Amino acid sequence: MVFKASDNPRHANSWYAASADDRKVRPALDGEISADVCVIGAGFTGISAALELAERGYSVVVLEAERIGFGASGRNGGQIVNGYSRDLETIAGRYGREKAIELGKMSLEGGEIIRTRVAGYGIDCDLIHGGFFAAFTEKQIREMEVHKAQWEKHGHAGLEMVAKRDVGKYVKTDRYAGGMIDKLGGHIHPLNLVLGEAGAVESLGGRIFEGSRVVGLDLSERPVVHTAKGSVKASYVLVCGNAYLAPLLPEVHGRMMPVSSQVMTTEPLDPALIESLLPANYCVEDANYILDYYRRTSDNRLLYGGGIGYGGHDPKDLTGIIRPNMLKTFPQLKNVNIDYAWSGNFALTLTRIPHMGRLSDKVYFSHGDSGHGVTTTHLLGKILGEAVAGHAERFDIWASLPNLPFPGGKTLRVPLTVLGAWWYGLRDKLGL
Ligand SMILES: Cc1cc2nc3c(=O)[nH]c(=O)nc-3n(C[C@H](O)[C@H](O)[C@H](O)COP(=O)(O)OP(=O)(O)OC[C@H]3O[C@@H](n4cnc5c(N)ncnc54)[C@H](O)[C@@H]3O)c2cc1C
Repeated sequence: MVFKASDNPRHANSWYAASADDRKVRPALDGEISADVCVIGAGFTGISAALELAERGYSVVVLEAERIGFGASGRNGGQIVNGYSRDLETIAGRYGREKAIELGKMSLEGGEIIRTRVAGYGIDCDLIHGGFFAAFTEKQIREMEVHKAQWEKHGHAGLEMVAKRDVGKYVKTDRYAGGMIDKLGGHIHPLNLVLGEAGAVESLGGRIFEGSRVVGLDLSERPVVHTAKGSVKASYVLVCGNAYLAPLLPEVHGRMMPVSSQVMTTEPLDPALIESLLPANYCVEDANYILDYYRRTSDNRLLYGGGIGYGGHDPKDLTGIIRPNMLKTFPQLKNVNIDYAWSGNFALTLTRIPHMGRLSDKVYFSHGDSGHGVTTTHLLGKILGEAVAGHAERFDIWASLPNLPFPGGKTLRVPLTVLGAWWYGLRDKLGL
Protein backbone atom coordinates (compact mmCIF):
# COMPACT_ATOMS: atom_id res chain seq x y z
CA MET A 1 0.00 0.00 0.00
CA VAL A 2 1.31 3.48 -0.86
CA PHE A 3 0.79 6.13 1.83
CA LYS A 4 0.78 9.90 1.46
CA ALA A 5 2.24 12.27 4.04
CA SER A 6 -1.29 13.59 4.60
CA ASP A 7 -2.32 10.10 5.81
CA ASN A 8 -0.14 10.84 8.82
CA PRO A 9 -1.83 13.96 10.26
CA ARG A 10 -0.04 16.99 11.75
CA HIS A 11 3.31 16.05 10.23
CA ALA A 12 5.21 17.98 7.54
CA ASN A 13 4.56 16.95 3.93
CA SER A 14 7.61 14.72 4.02
CA TRP A 15 8.65 11.39 2.60
CA TYR A 16 9.29 10.43 6.24
CA ALA A 17 5.68 11.05 7.27
CA ALA A 18 4.54 9.10 4.20
CA SER A 19 6.80 6.13 4.96
CA ALA A 20 6.65 6.06 8.79
CA ASP A 21 6.07 2.61 10.25
CA ASP A 22 4.18 3.71 13.37
CA ARG A 23 1.15 5.86 12.52
CA LYS A 24 -0.62 5.42 15.84
CA VAL A 25 -1.87 8.78 17.15
CA ARG A 26 -1.27 9.00 20.90
CA PRO A 27 -4.01 10.64 23.03
CA ALA A 28 -3.83 14.21 24.28
CA LEU A 29 -3.36 14.76 27.99
CA ASP A 30 -6.73 15.13 29.70
CA GLY A 31 -6.78 15.66 33.47
CA GLU A 32 -4.23 15.85 36.27
CA ILE A 33 -1.48 13.25 36.51
CA SER A 34 1.89 12.97 38.20
CA ALA A 35 5.26 11.44 37.34
CA ASP A 36 8.86 11.51 38.45
CA VAL A 37 9.83 13.40 35.31
CA CYS A 38 7.87 15.40 32.73
CA VAL A 39 9.59 15.95 29.37
CA ILE A 40 8.42 18.78 27.09
CA GLY A 41 8.92 17.85 23.41
CA ALA A 42 9.10 14.46 21.67
CA GLY A 43 12.08 14.99 19.40
CA PHE A 44 15.42 13.19 19.70
CA THR A 45 16.44 15.23 22.78
CA GLY A 46 13.23 14.65 24.72
CA ILE A 47 12.82 11.01 23.74
CA SER A 48 16.51 10.24 24.38
CA ALA A 49 16.16 11.71 27.90
CA ALA A 50 12.88 9.87 28.47
CA LEU A 51 14.41 6.56 27.39
CA GLU A 52 17.47 7.01 29.60
CA LEU A 53 15.17 7.71 32.56
CA ALA A 54 12.69 4.91 31.78
CA GLU A 55 15.64 2.48 31.58
CA ARG A 56 16.73 3.71 35.02
CA GLY A 57 13.25 2.96 36.43
CA TYR A 58 11.82 6.50 36.60
CA SER A 59 8.17 7.16 35.74
CA VAL A 60 8.20 9.49 32.74
CA VAL A 61 5.55 11.54 30.94
CA VAL A 62 6.35 13.17 27.59
CA LEU A 63 4.14 16.04 26.37
CA GLU A 64 4.34 16.77 22.63
CA ALA A 65 2.52 19.73 21.08
CA GLU A 66 1.98 17.95 17.74
CA ARG A 67 3.21 14.42 16.94
CA ILE A 68 6.30 12.45 18.00
CA GLY A 69 9.06 13.62 15.64
CA PHE A 70 7.02 16.59 14.38
CA GLY A 71 10.03 18.94 14.66
CA ALA A 72 13.53 18.71 13.23
CA SER A 73 13.92 15.11 14.43
CA GLY A 74 11.29 13.81 12.03
CA ARG A 75 12.31 15.99 9.06
CA ASN A 76 16.10 16.06 8.88
CA GLY A 77 18.58 14.69 6.36
CA GLY A 78 19.01 11.56 8.47
CA GLN A 79 22.78 11.92 8.46
CA ILE A 80 24.66 10.53 11.46
CA VAL A 81 27.46 13.09 11.74
CA ASN A 82 29.87 12.63 14.62
CA GLY A 83 31.14 15.52 16.70
CA TYR A 84 29.89 19.07 16.96
CA SER A 85 29.20 22.02 14.67
CA ARG A 86 32.56 23.50 15.74
CA ASP A 87 35.85 21.59 15.67
CA LEU A 88 37.69 20.65 18.83
CA GLU A 89 40.55 23.16 18.30
CA THR A 90 38.01 26.00 18.16
CA ILE A 91 36.40 24.58 21.31
CA ALA A 92 39.84 24.42 23.00
CA GLY A 93 40.60 28.02 21.95
CA ARG A 94 37.29 29.28 23.33
CA TYR A 95 36.74 27.22 26.47
CA GLY A 96 40.19 25.82 27.29
CA ARG A 97 41.99 22.55 26.62
CA GLU A 98 40.35 20.67 29.54
CA LYS A 99 36.82 21.36 28.29
CA ALA A 100 37.86 20.34 24.76
CA ILE A 101 39.22 17.04 26.11
CA GLU A 102 35.96 16.39 28.01
CA LEU A 103 33.81 17.20 24.95
CA GLY A 104 36.17 15.18 22.76
CA LYS A 105 35.61 12.12 25.00
CA MET A 106 31.85 12.40 24.39
CA SER A 107 32.01 13.21 20.69
CA LEU A 108 31.47 9.69 19.35
CA GLU A 109 28.94 8.69 21.98
CA GLY A 110 25.80 10.05 20.25
CA GLY A 111 26.32 7.74 17.25
CA GLU A 112 27.06 4.86 19.62
CA ILE A 113 23.81 5.50 21.54
CA ILE A 114 21.86 5.35 18.26
CA ARG A 115 23.50 2.09 17.17
CA THR A 116 23.01 0.52 20.63
CA ARG A 117 19.32 1.46 20.80
CA VAL A 118 18.63 0.39 17.24
CA ALA A 119 20.15 -3.02 17.98
CA GLY A 120 18.81 -3.36 21.54
CA TYR A 121 15.19 -2.44 20.79
CA GLY A 122 15.15 -3.83 17.24
CA ILE A 123 14.29 -0.44 15.68
CA ASP A 124 13.80 -0.65 11.94
CA CYS A 125 15.05 2.74 10.70
CA ASP A 126 17.14 1.75 7.65
CA LEU A 127 20.45 2.26 9.48
CA ILE A 128 23.33 2.33 6.98
CA HIS A 129 26.96 2.91 7.96
CA GLY A 130 29.34 5.43 6.37
CA GLY A 131 29.43 9.11 5.51
CA PHE A 132 31.41 11.16 2.97
CA PHE A 133 32.42 14.82 3.49
CA ALA A 134 32.95 16.40 0.08
CA ALA A 135 35.49 19.17 -0.55
CA PHE A 136 35.29 21.62 -3.46
CA THR A 137 38.70 23.19 -2.97
CA GLU A 138 42.25 22.38 -1.87
CA LYS A 139 41.67 24.68 1.11
CA GLN A 140 38.70 22.59 2.25
CA ILE A 141 40.80 19.44 1.84
CA ARG A 142 43.56 20.91 4.02
CA GLU A 143 40.96 21.83 6.66
CA MET A 144 39.64 18.27 6.61
CA GLU A 145 43.17 16.93 7.10
CA VAL A 146 43.56 19.15 10.16
CA HIS A 147 40.17 18.02 11.54
CA LYS A 148 41.08 14.38 10.92
CA ALA A 149 44.31 14.75 12.91
CA GLN A 150 42.41 16.42 15.77
CA TRP A 151 39.71 13.75 15.83
CA GLU A 152 42.28 10.99 15.84
CA LYS A 153 43.82 12.50 18.98
CA HIS A 154 40.38 12.03 20.57
CA GLY A 155 40.21 8.38 19.52
CA HIS A 156 38.27 8.56 16.23
CA ALA A 157 39.63 5.70 14.13
CA GLY A 158 37.05 5.75 11.31
CA LEU A 159 38.32 8.64 9.16
CA GLU A 160 40.13 8.36 5.81
CA MET A 161 41.02 11.04 3.29
CA VAL A 162 39.76 10.44 -0.25
CA ALA A 163 41.76 11.69 -3.25
CA LYS A 164 39.98 13.24 -6.25
CA ARG A 165 40.55 10.12 -8.35
CA ASP A 166 38.67 8.02 -5.72
CA VAL A 167 35.67 10.31 -5.16
CA GLY A 168 33.68 8.22 -7.66
CA LYS A 169 33.71 5.29 -5.20
CA TYR A 170 31.36 7.34 -3.05
CA VAL A 171 29.60 9.82 -5.31
CA LYS A 172 29.43 10.09 -9.07
CA THR A 173 29.92 13.78 -9.77
CA ASP A 174 32.86 15.81 -11.01
CA ARG A 175 32.15 18.71 -8.58
CA TYR A 176 34.53 17.67 -5.82
CA ALA A 177 38.29 18.01 -5.39
CA GLY A 178 38.39 15.21 -2.81
CA GLY A 179 37.01 14.57 0.64
CA MET A 180 37.02 12.40 3.72
CA ILE A 181 35.00 9.38 4.76
CA ASP A 182 33.76 8.62 8.26
CA LYS A 183 33.11 4.93 8.72
CA LEU A 184 31.40 5.71 12.05
CA GLY A 185 28.96 8.05 10.30
CA GLY A 186 25.93 6.83 8.41
CA HIS A 187 22.26 7.47 7.78
CA ILE A 188 18.82 6.60 9.08
CA HIS A 189 15.11 7.24 8.54
CA PRO A 190 14.96 9.75 11.41
CA LEU A 191 11.20 9.66 11.97
CA ASN A 192 11.26 5.87 12.25
CA LEU A 193 14.21 6.16 14.65
CA VAL A 194 12.45 8.58 17.03
CA LEU A 195 9.19 6.60 16.76
CA GLY A 196 11.08 3.39 17.57
CA GLU A 197 12.74 5.03 20.56
CA ALA A 198 9.36 6.40 21.68
CA GLY A 199 7.98 2.86 21.44
CA ALA A 200 10.86 1.73 23.66
CA VAL A 201 9.94 4.40 26.24
CA GLU A 202 6.34 3.14 26.21
CA SER A 203 7.46 -0.49 26.50
CA LEU A 204 9.17 0.52 29.78
CA GLY A 205 6.02 2.17 31.14
CA GLY A 206 6.61 5.76 29.94
CA ARG A 207 3.55 7.71 28.79
CA ILE A 208 3.60 9.95 25.71
CA PHE A 209 0.82 12.43 24.94
CA GLU A 210 0.53 14.02 21.48
CA GLY A 211 -1.46 17.15 20.62
CA SER A 212 -0.53 18.34 24.12
CA ARG A 213 1.18 21.71 23.86
CA VAL A 214 2.59 22.94 27.14
CA VAL A 215 1.19 26.39 27.80
CA GLY A 216 2.44 27.02 31.32
CA LEU A 217 5.09 25.85 33.76
CA ASP A 218 5.18 26.53 37.52
CA LEU A 219 8.79 26.58 38.59
CA SER A 220 8.05 25.60 42.19
CA GLU A 221 9.84 22.97 44.31
CA ARG A 222 7.47 20.38 42.77
CA PRO A 223 6.94 21.85 39.30
CA VAL A 224 3.57 21.65 37.52
CA VAL A 225 3.33 21.59 33.72
CA HIS A 226 0.06 22.76 32.16
CA THR A 227 -1.55 21.96 28.81
CA ALA A 228 -4.95 23.21 27.60
CA LYS A 229 -6.76 20.23 29.15
CA GLY A 230 -4.50 18.84 31.83
CA SER A 231 -1.46 19.12 34.03
CA VAL A 232 1.50 17.03 35.16
CA LYS A 233 2.97 17.30 38.64
CA ALA A 234 6.58 16.15 38.45
CA SER A 235 9.73 16.07 40.54
CA TYR A 236 11.74 17.20 37.50
CA VAL A 237 10.90 18.87 34.17
CA LEU A 238 13.09 18.67 31.06
CA VAL A 239 12.50 21.35 28.44
CA CYS A 240 13.32 19.92 24.98
CA GLY A 241 11.23 22.04 22.59
CA ASN A 242 14.27 23.30 20.65
CA ALA A 243 13.41 25.62 17.71
CA TYR A 244 9.66 25.01 18.19
CA LEU A 245 9.50 26.05 21.86
CA ALA A 246 8.24 29.66 21.42
CA PRO A 247 6.12 31.21 22.90
CA LEU A 248 6.72 29.14 26.06
CA LEU A 249 9.69 30.20 28.21
CA PRO A 250 11.18 33.22 26.38
CA GLU A 251 14.20 32.98 28.73
CA VAL A 252 15.04 29.66 27.00
CA HIS A 253 14.06 30.18 23.37
CA GLY A 254 15.55 33.69 23.36
CA ARG A 255 19.00 32.09 23.60
CA MET A 256 18.87 30.46 20.19
CA MET A 257 17.67 31.32 16.70
CA PRO A 258 15.32 29.07 14.69
CA VAL A 259 16.81 28.36 11.27
CA SER A 260 15.04 26.47 8.51
CA SER A 261 16.59 24.02 6.09
CA GLN A 262 14.85 22.43 3.10
CA VAL A 263 14.73 18.84 1.91
CA MET A 264 13.20 17.06 -1.08
CA THR A 265 13.10 13.56 -2.50
CA THR A 266 12.97 12.41 -6.08
CA GLU A 267 10.59 9.73 -7.24
CA PRO A 268 12.00 6.18 -6.74
CA LEU A 269 14.88 5.76 -9.21
CA ASP A 270 16.01 2.70 -11.08
CA PRO A 271 18.19 0.82 -8.51
CA ALA A 272 21.06 0.74 -11.02
CA LEU A 273 20.87 4.53 -11.43
CA ILE A 274 20.86 5.40 -7.72
CA GLU A 275 23.63 2.86 -7.11
CA SER A 276 25.71 4.48 -9.82
CA LEU A 277 25.24 7.93 -8.18
CA LEU A 278 26.11 6.74 -4.66
CA PRO A 279 27.99 3.45 -5.12
CA ALA A 280 28.90 2.94 -1.44
CA ASN A 281 25.45 4.07 -0.18
CA TYR A 282 27.23 6.59 2.09
CA CYS A 283 25.49 9.85 2.94
CA VAL A 284 27.20 12.97 1.60
CA GLU A 285 27.53 16.49 2.91
CA ASP A 286 29.74 19.14 1.39
CA ALA A 287 32.11 21.49 3.20
CA ASN A 288 30.54 24.82 2.21
CA TYR A 289 29.20 27.20 4.86
CA ILE A 290 25.67 26.74 3.47
CA LEU A 291 25.97 23.11 2.60
CA ASP A 292 24.19 20.51 0.49
CA TYR A 293 23.49 17.11 2.07
CA TYR A 294 22.07 14.05 0.36
CA ARG A 295 21.68 10.30 0.47
CA ARG A 296 19.84 7.31 -0.91
CA THR A 297 16.56 6.19 0.72
CA SER A 298 15.49 2.61 1.32
CA ASP A 299 13.12 2.84 -1.68
CA ASN A 300 15.84 4.18 -4.01
CA ARG A 301 15.00 7.87 -4.01
CA LEU A 302 17.63 10.57 -3.81
CA LEU A 303 16.92 12.64 -0.69
CA TYR A 304 18.58 16.04 -1.16
CA GLY A 305 18.75 18.90 1.35
CA GLY A 306 20.22 22.37 1.66
CA GLY A 307 19.17 26.00 1.78
CA ILE A 308 18.86 28.05 4.89
CA GLY A 309 16.26 30.45 6.35
CA TYR A 310 17.49 32.47 9.35
CA GLY A 311 14.64 33.20 11.74
CA GLY A 312 12.95 29.94 10.77
CA HIS A 313 10.65 31.16 8.00
CA ASP A 314 9.76 28.51 5.44
CA PRO A 315 10.26 29.57 1.84
CA LYS A 316 7.27 28.99 -0.49
CA ASP A 317 9.01 27.30 -3.43
CA LEU A 318 11.02 24.57 -1.69
CA THR A 319 11.76 22.57 -4.83
CA GLY A 320 12.82 25.76 -6.64
CA ILE A 321 15.56 26.20 -4.02
CA ILE A 322 16.90 22.65 -3.79
CA ARG A 323 16.43 21.20 -7.29
CA PRO A 324 19.00 23.51 -8.97
CA ASN A 325 21.58 22.41 -6.37
CA MET A 326 20.77 18.76 -6.99
CA LEU A 327 21.21 19.30 -10.74
CA LYS A 328 24.61 20.92 -10.22
CA THR A 329 25.68 17.70 -8.48
CA PHE A 330 23.78 15.24 -10.67
CA PRO A 331 22.84 16.86 -14.03
CA GLN A 332 21.78 13.38 -15.18
CA LEU A 333 18.62 13.74 -13.00
CA LYS A 334 17.15 16.63 -15.01
CA ASN A 335 14.09 14.65 -16.10
CA VAL A 336 13.37 13.07 -12.73
CA ASN A 337 10.20 14.03 -10.80
CA ILE A 338 10.30 15.42 -7.28
CA ASP A 339 7.73 13.63 -5.08
CA TYR A 340 8.15 15.41 -1.72
CA ALA A 341 9.59 18.72 -0.49
CA TRP A 342 9.50 20.05 3.04
CA SER A 343 11.20 22.41 5.42
CA GLY A 344 12.04 22.19 9.12
CA ASN A 345 13.63 24.32 11.83
CA PHE A 346 16.72 23.61 13.84
CA ALA A 347 18.02 25.78 16.68
CA LEU A 348 21.20 27.77 16.10
CA THR A 349 23.31 29.21 18.92
CA LEU A 350 25.81 32.00 18.30
CA THR A 351 28.66 29.68 19.34
CA ARG A 352 27.25 26.74 17.25
CA ILE A 353 27.68 24.68 20.45
CA PRO A 354 24.58 23.18 22.10
CA HIS A 355 23.29 24.94 25.17
CA MET A 356 22.19 23.17 28.37
CA GLY A 357 21.23 24.69 31.66
CA ARG A 358 18.93 24.87 34.66
CA LEU A 359 15.92 27.15 35.11
CA SER A 360 15.68 25.95 38.72
CA ASP A 361 16.95 22.98 40.75
CA LYS A 362 14.20 20.89 39.17
CA VAL A 363 13.87 22.25 35.62
CA TYR A 364 16.61 21.64 33.03
CA PHE A 365 16.81 22.40 29.32
CA SER A 366 18.90 21.47 26.28
CA HIS A 367 18.76 22.92 22.78
CA GLY A 368 20.80 24.52 20.01
CA ASP A 369 22.48 21.57 18.29
CA SER A 370 22.97 23.97 15.38
CA GLY A 371 22.43 21.92 12.25
CA HIS A 372 24.25 18.77 13.31
CA GLY A 373 21.97 17.32 15.94
CA VAL A 374 21.18 13.69 15.15
CA THR A 375 24.04 12.45 17.33
CA THR A 376 24.37 15.31 19.86
CA THR A 377 20.65 15.25 20.76
CA HIS A 378 21.02 11.56 21.62
CA LEU A 379 24.05 12.34 23.78
CA LEU A 380 22.56 15.40 25.49
CA GLY A 381 19.20 13.70 26.09
CA LYS A 382 21.08 10.92 27.87
CA ILE A 383 23.03 13.52 29.87
CA LEU A 384 19.76 15.23 30.92
CA GLY A 385 18.60 11.83 32.19
CA GLU A 386 21.87 11.30 34.06
CA ALA A 387 21.51 14.72 35.71
CA VAL A 388 18.02 13.87 36.99
CA ALA A 389 19.41 10.58 38.31
CA GLY A 390 21.94 12.53 40.41
CA HIS A 391 24.96 12.25 38.10
CA ALA A 392 25.25 15.81 36.86
CA GLU A 393 29.01 15.84 36.17
CA ARG A 394 28.66 15.76 32.38
CA PHE A 395 25.62 18.07 32.44
CA ASP A 396 27.66 20.60 34.43
CA ILE A 397 30.45 20.57 31.84
CA TRP A 398 27.96 21.50 29.12
CA ALA A 399 26.09 23.96 31.34
CA SER A 400 29.38 25.76 32.10
CA LEU A 401 29.95 26.68 28.42
CA PRO A 402 28.92 30.32 27.96
CA ASN A 403 25.88 30.97 25.78
CA LEU A 404 26.25 34.33 24.06
CA PRO A 405 23.34 36.40 22.75
CA PHE A 406 23.16 37.03 18.99
CA PRO A 407 24.31 40.59 18.27
CA GLY A 408 21.58 42.99 17.22
CA GLY A 409 18.88 41.97 19.71
CA LYS A 410 15.48 40.74 18.55
CA THR A 411 15.18 43.10 15.58
CA LEU A 412 18.65 42.98 14.07
CA ARG A 413 19.87 39.47 14.92
CA VAL A 414 18.38 37.88 11.79
CA PRO A 415 19.69 40.47 9.26
CA LEU A 416 23.12 40.49 10.93
CA THR A 417 23.32 36.68 10.80
CA VAL A 418 22.21 36.72 7.15
CA LEU A 419 24.99 39.21 6.43
CA GLY A 420 27.57 36.97 8.12
CA ALA A 421 26.31 33.90 6.23
CA TRP A 422 26.40 35.87 2.95
CA TRP A 423 30.05 36.74 3.59
CA TYR A 424 31.02 33.12 4.31
CA GLY A 425 28.94 31.94 1.33
CA LEU A 426 30.77 34.41 -0.92
CA ARG A 427 34.13 33.11 0.32
CA ASP A 428 33.00 29.56 -0.60
CA LYS A 429 31.92 30.72 -4.07
CA LEU A 430 35.27 32.42 -4.62
CA GLY A 431 37.11 29.39 -3.22
CA LEU A 432 38.75 31.48 -0.47
C1 LIG B 1 15.71 20.14 7.51
C2 LIG B 1 16.71 19.71 8.55
C3 LIG B 1 17.74 18.85 8.20
C4 LIG B 1 18.68 18.43 9.16
N1 LIG B 1 19.58 17.46 8.82
C5 LIG B 1 20.39 16.96 9.77
C6 LIG B 1 21.24 15.88 9.48
O1 LIG B 1 21.20 15.31 8.38
N2 LIG B 1 22.10 15.46 10.45
C7 LIG B 1 22.14 16.05 11.68
O2 LIG B 1 22.95 15.66 12.52
N3 LIG B 1 21.27 17.04 12.02
C8 LIG B 1 20.39 17.50 11.10
N4 LIG B 1 19.50 18.45 11.44
C9 LIG B 1 19.43 18.92 12.85
C10 LIG B 1 18.67 17.91 13.75
O3 LIG B 1 17.55 17.41 13.07
C11 LIG B 1 18.22 18.61 15.04
O4 LIG B 1 19.36 19.16 15.68
C12 LIG B 1 17.53 17.68 16.03
O5 LIG B 1 16.58 16.86 15.41
C13 LIG B 1 16.89 18.50 17.14
O6 LIG B 1 16.16 17.61 17.97
P1 LIG B 1 15.32 18.16 19.19
O7 LIG B 1 14.68 17.01 19.85
O8 LIG B 1 16.22 18.99 20.05
O9 LIG B 1 14.25 19.15 18.56
P2 LIG B 1 12.97 18.81 17.67
O10 LIG B 1 13.14 17.56 16.92
O11 LIG B 1 12.64 20.03 16.91
O12 LIG B 1 11.84 18.51 18.75
C14 LIG B 1 11.25 19.49 19.55
C15 LIG B 1 9.82 19.04 19.83
O13 LIG B 1 9.28 19.82 20.88
C16 LIG B 1 7.92 20.05 20.60
N5 LIG B 1 7.50 21.24 21.37
C17 LIG B 1 7.96 22.51 21.25
N6 LIG B 1 7.33 23.31 22.13
C18 LIG B 1 6.47 22.54 22.82
C19 LIG B 1 5.53 22.80 23.85
N7 LIG B 1 5.32 24.03 24.34
N8 LIG B 1 4.79 21.77 24.34
C20 LIG B 1 4.98 20.50 23.87
N9 LIG B 1 5.84 20.21 22.86
C21 LIG B 1 6.58 21.22 22.36
C22 LIG B 1 7.88 20.26 19.10
O14 LIG B 1 6.59 20.07 18.56
C23 LIG B 1 8.90 19.22 18.62
O15 LIG B 1 8.30 17.99 18.29
C24 LIG B 1 18.58 18.92 10.50
C25 LIG B 1 17.57 19.82 10.85
C26 LIG B 1 16.64 20.21 9.90
C27 LIG B 1 15.52 21.13 10.30
